[in-house]
Amino acid sequence: MKILTTLVFASILAFKAQATSLDHVKPVLNFKYQKMNSIEENSFSHLQVVTERAKFPKGEQKEKLLHAIELLEEIVNSDEFREKVISYVGPNGENEFTKNYLWKNSKERLTNEEVYEVIMAGNEKMRANTLNEMNLNIKYYTVPWWKFTSKKVIGYTTPSSSKYIRVNWTNFYRRFETYEMVGNVLHEWLHLLGFLHGKENMRNEVPYVVGAIALEMAKKKLDLD
Ligand SMILES: [Zn+2]
Repeated sequence: MKILTTLVFASILAFKAQATSLDHVKPVLNFKYQKMNSIEENSFSHLQVVTERAKFPKGEQKEKLLHAIELLEEIVNSDEFREKVISYVGPNGENEFTKNYLWKNSKERLTNEEVYEVIMAGNEKMRANTLNEMNLNIKYYTVPWWKFTSKKVIGYTTPSSSKYIRVNWTNFYRRFETYEMVGNVLHEWLHLLGFLHGKENMRNEVPYVVGAIALEMAKKKLDLD
């Protein structure tokens, strides 16, 4: 599906461009479906979601978060998710993500298949030796009314030194629907693997696009319920 987007200029975002997700960056989901390489179905392992910490206010929103985490495991292990990640088309019309490399290794570009494999390997820098696990450590934070600059940040991570995903309760998670949590938790977790943001075309990067793929899939699943 296509989402109309607003162009976002990197200079505005520079203050925390490393590993945040910003409310106004809207990815465009275009896919060029190809015949999948004849990959043995079982050559990809299952990515198990392991919730190690979910520090979050008790109540309806926490129930939604836990539901979102369950859905996330279903989604990332589905054929549809694999197909969409592999078929994603970037702004150049090719099956290619912007900033398709880990950390600063711009010499080692990843194909969409390799991006998918990195996701399924689940190798967070700060949760080493837990392959094939999505280790989730989520903590909420609140934003005081006078902090104008933080109000558009949905969540953030510092992936080279922390395993935590910090989520903005005040401006987003307090009212988020389950499917929005699915998209944002996945976005933030992808940072922990080393998928960072660059200065341009953020909406074509792995965290935004793959997060949006999961969000759309979750929304569809929930609408069917
Ligand atoms: Zn981000």
